[in-house]
Amino acid sequence: MGEFELIRNYFAAAPCAQAGDGVALGIGDDCALLAVPAGEQLAISTDTLVTGVHFADPCDPFLLGQRSLAVAVSDLAAMGATPVAFTLALTLPAVTADWLDAYARGLNQMAQGCGVRLVGGDTTRGPLSLTMTVFGRVPAGQALTRSGAQVGDLLCVGGDLGNAAGALPLVLGQRTAPAAIAEPLLAHYWSPQPQLALGQALRGKASAALDISDGLLADCGHIAKASAVGLLVEHQKLPLSAALLAFLGENAARVAAVSGGDDYVLAFTLPPAHLPALLAEGWPIHVVGRVVAGQGVTLLDANGQDITPNIRGYQHFQETP
Ligand code: ADP
Ligand code: MG
Repeated sequence: MGEFELIRNYFAAAPCAQAGDGVALGIGDDCALLAVPAGEQLAISTDTLVTGVHFADPCDPFLLGQRSLAVAVSDLAAMGATPVAFTLALTLPAVTADWLDAYARGLNQMAQGCGVRLVGGDTTRGPLSLTMTVFGRVPAGQALTRSGAQVGDLLCVGGDLGNAAGALPLVLGQRTAPAAIAEPLLAHYWSPQPQLALGQALRGKASAALDISDGLLADCGHIAKASAVGLLVEHQKLPLSAALLAFLGENAARVAAVSGGDDYVLAFTLPPAHLPALLAEGWPIHVVGRVVAGQGVTLLDANGQDITPNIRGYQHFQETP
């Protein structure tokens, strides 16, 4: 199968690659053309997943298709953007019809769930690597950035933490668990659901936001730094799923919630006045701390003691001391 046949069969023909809202020209020309409505801005983010670094080799291509797009679209959720389109740069060691078919089906399922269209990409030979660039739209000036947190705001998260980190020993085949525990944890790892609706509901309300990809403390550190504030996180308030508690026990579950990556749950700061209405609308918001004067992120136990661990999020390159 040649490069063009591959693109045509598995990607250009996919339902998520067909014409739609915001896409003036899709796959097939030198560039795609996106239409941005007047008064809106384009939100753009790129993510690369490399075999052996971001996922085990071999892994299920259908699940990889879902996950590779979900982690990219999650950045749009974190900005409060509405997804429009994405491109896929695919590097493959060999062309395997079964692999491509399953990958494209997983990708398509996540794309349709998120309302985002495949508008182009690149196809090359080499070690398996996937690069997604996602495009979203957001009313001008209303994107949720990392830099607006104010002293007195609440620190909130959009759902249970630590599930993906809890799933990792299952993903790597190091441990097993009964289906009632394994299935929900693995679902969080392989098909995280970008919190798009929550991100959009937080426009004009949250003062800062991001999606948790490297662990709660590490990612909150980005908000603290960008906003020039301190963040206090209360260990006892971190929401944990029943599956994670059953699998790891409470202590290890809390470590996963604090330091584990790959959750793709939103973390955001919110002026307290906005909380009651958002809760009344049914948004899954958990208050886990608050914004204070100072810097950095401090983890507090139930007695208010500082129990901040040294472990920080995964970094591909270590900072020089
Ligand atoms: P060019 O040589 O002009 O960069 P290509 O031959 O690489 O174009 O690609 C042809 C068309 O197919 C382009 O519209 C490109 O965006 C699209 N494309 C290539 N690879 C992929 C892919 N993996 N998924 C979706 N579209 C792709
Ligand atoms: Mg090309």
